[in-house]
Amino acid sequence: MRLPFTASLAALQSLVVVAHGHAGGSDSDHHVLLPVQLRAPTAEHFLPIVSNDTYDFGCRPIARPVTADGSSSRQYFELHALLTRDQIAHLSHEYRSTDVSLHEQTLTKRAATAPIGTGDRFQSGTVAPKGLGTQASGTTIASIMNLNEISSAVNGLVSVYKTVTTFTLPYKTFEGRTQFAAYVGAGTDTSKYHLYLSAAVHARERGGPDNLIYWISDLLSANKTGSGLTYGKKTYTNAQVKSVLAAGIVFFPVVNPDGVAYDQSSGSLWRKNRNTKSGSSGASVGVDINRNFDFLWNFPKYFASSASPASTSPSSQTFYGTAAQSEPETKNHVSVYDKFPKIRWFMDVHSAAGDILYSWGDDENQSTNTAMNFLSSTYDGKRGIVGDTAYKEYIPSADATNVKKVADATVAAMKAVGGRSYITQQAVGLYATSGATDDYAFSRYWSKSGQVNKVYGYTMEFGYSTNFYPTLTEFNQNILDTNAGFMDWALAAISVGLE
Ligand SMILES: [Zn+2]
Repeated sequence: MRLPFTASLAALQSLVVVAHGHAGGSDSDHHVLLPVQLRAPTAEHFLPIVSNDTYDFGCRPIARPVTADGSSSRQYFELHALLTRDQIAHLSHEYRSTDVSLHEQTLTKRAATAPIGTGDRFQSGTVAPKGLGTQASGTTIASIMNLNEISSAVNGLVSVYKTVTTFTLPYKTFEGRTQFAAYVGAGTDTSKYHLYLSAAVHARERGGPDNLIYWISDLLSANKTGSGLTYGKKTYTNAQVKSVLAAGIVFFPVVNPDGVAYDQSSGSLWRKNRNTKSGSSGASVGVDINRNFDFLWNFPKYFASSASPASTSPSSQTFYGTAAQSEPETKNHVSVYDKFPKIRWFMDVHSAAGDILYSWGDDENQSTNTAMNFLSSTYDGKRGIVGDTAYKEYIPSADATNVKKVADATVAAMKAVGGRSYITQQAVGLYATSGATDDYAFSRYWSKSGQVNKVYGYTMEFGYSTNFYPTLTEFNQNILDTNAGFMDWALAAISVGLE
């Protein structure tokens, strides 16, 4: 149970639940997750709800300002969630007579979600995928790759272009799958690779691997034919393609294959991996890989008690696991930094919020007090509260400038495609996270006493809010948006510096 908002909230209004197309009520509906928008006059209104780790806020909770008719005046803040009918009923009761309202999203007006491919369109790794940036405008891809097709697609690139190299990662997943990643563009010397991208840490975020693989496909095709790339209204020259490849790209297209296999077969909006160590049925199965990295992982110790950057509960979507890097997927992700010691820029591809997040994610940034940092035990128990002065995370001002500059360039490119709007945001937004891929990437330099390369870490959340299963139109738009984003992210990174 959460405490309701206090009476200090002004302008009390009735809670409204707007339901569309749901008869609701049968027993079988109890675990079905329904997309809901919560609205409130300020983002702070959502803090008590976000602190409850039984609710599902997607990749990370994001409160977005909503403006009416494109004007600059802010109307309200919106928080997307996926809730069961019981949770909706509970919250509706809890927040009646407050400024917070719940609105169920209309599902009936949406087209069917994009299908998962059947069979293997890449014919056991003998046919290379073809991206949208090297094909005629209006060309579309007919389905999302199934798990087998993802590896077949990468093998297709290897066999057709000869310049892509795959490698096996050291740890097998809980269900015994062997994981792989690949590198391209800078030859055989692994110290020449400066860009690292990964996808499908969260299983249900469909299209992530496709976005990444089609982009690599475009780079290779354009490089070979001497052409440029076109994503909607955004174009790139062949010289830019060659420049991006020369930066050296490492890509890990499916970080969570057990979860993806389960999600693709069950359609259950599955997020975590499939480890049953802490729970063997229903929602208690699995660890959130994006809370399992070794960055302030033991959050009950490091964060303020009122912050909830992850969860100790196995049934939560943000369950942090049994130890930092307890999961094979996490260890494999980390092993890539050891194999490619000069990685400088990292991008983790998620959905679905429409933003680029930059460091840090544990608290607000500050560049004045070097002693106030994630390694200092002085601040244990104080981290993670946005808007206070007890703790803010240290980031050197030059780094703060760099990470923001590249995030802005990425978002500008994604908007320039002409499909939808994206925003940049510091990863903490209003709500802290612990153990995430992006913060881990950036923290390594300090936690390893400057003995490893500094890595700027980003999270891209493509697509539309809590819309993890895109329609076919959205799936194709996501490919265009993300691929332009990857291009300008890489170009801006090159401009800031790879060494
Ligand atoms: Zn995610």
